[in-house]
Amino acid sequence: MSNPVSHVLPAGTDAVVGQIRDAIVSRQRFLITSHARPDGDSIGSQLAMAFALDALGKQSRIINADRAPDHYYEFPGLGRIEIAAEVPADAIADAVIVMECGDLTRTGVRGFEERYIINIDHHAGNRMYGAINWFDESAAACSEMVYDVIGALGVPMSLEIATHIYLAILTDTGSFHHSNITPRTFDICRQTVEAGVNPAIMARRVYDSNSFGKLKLIGALLDQMELVHDGRVAVLRLDDDVLASCGCTNNDTEGIINLPLTAREIQAVVFFRTTAEGEVRVSMRSKYDVDVRMVANEHGGGGHKNAAGFTVTGPLHELQPLIVERLVRAVDEGLESRPPE
Ligand code: AMP
Ligand code: MN
Repeated sequence: MSNPVSHVLPAGTDAVVGQIRDAIVSRQRFLITSHARPDGDSIGSQLAMAFALDALGKQSRIINADRAPDHYYEFPGLGRIEIAAEVPADAIADAVIVMECGDLTRTGVRGFEERYIINIDHHAGNRMYGAINWFDESAAACSEMVYDVIGALGVPMSLEIATHIYLAILTDTGSFHHSNITPRTFDICRQTVEAGVNPAIMARRVYDSNSFGKLKLIGALLDQMELVHDGRVAVLRLDDDVLASCGCTNNDTEGIINLPLTAREIQAVVFFRTTAEGEVRVSMRSKYDVDVRMVANEHGGGGHKNAAGFTVTGPLHELQPLIVERLVRAVDEGLESRPPE
């Protein structure tokens, strides 16, 4: 059974959602993209949009810089995602729908620049690079915004669409841990469950599909975890050698960063992933009002208050003390603004 999407748009968004609806209705061929190294929200937002365009009889191609982690391939439509560093020459389209990207370089795909772009994003600091720009920092996942667009288009909530909207919310809220969850988040989830989504199956597929190698990797990483600031800040480091010694690939690192936060005292985690090319990818997570996005912003990255990241080139032994010290400050500032428990 599929119910029509029925909801009230967040205040002030009617006009832009109407513009996006009109832009989609009046066009036929679409490209859909999102950020490099996709996560659940980028996958779910793109596929929910693609299935909605199918329902309208529109053509769409999804073009991403990187393949999604393997366990996402159990969800409908993943095989539709084309992996490319450049927009394929035959990708003729009337519009590109870019989701989850503060600027176009985040896609990691060249060739979208001169096209008609519909920019839908919930990351603070969006550069408004589209012909239409909808940026809503209050959305817990970009898929909450996609849900609005789909509703405005009058597309029914099919099981495929519902699955991807729920997948995106489940993962982007850190399985309902982050502080940007609102009644609206649950209202949308309620509708996805009514459309047939099974939250238990979703959670098992996303969180309980580790390889044995990943369990080994978790052990190795937690074993060498450093704690600073009376255990309030945790530091994890990973290089290619440790990854290989556990029989793992990059796909297996997803979600590990959240584990230290399960310790009561730990308020912030930083995960340094060094690569053979001399790059350091920095991921950060935090609890409550500890703002790691500010830290990422200072290094050219971005994200959200409780989940942010950036990538730099340079030696880890120089970067690490800087970031750890900055996180200690973020923790202290966050603790000051936290209401008493
Ligand atoms: P990650 O730690 O890679 O899972 O990213 C956490 C959050 O930070 C996500 O919302 C990402 O989109 C965002 N993020 C990570 N790296 C960057 C970056 N280089 N620029 C902007 N946002 C980023
Ligand atoms: Mn997101």
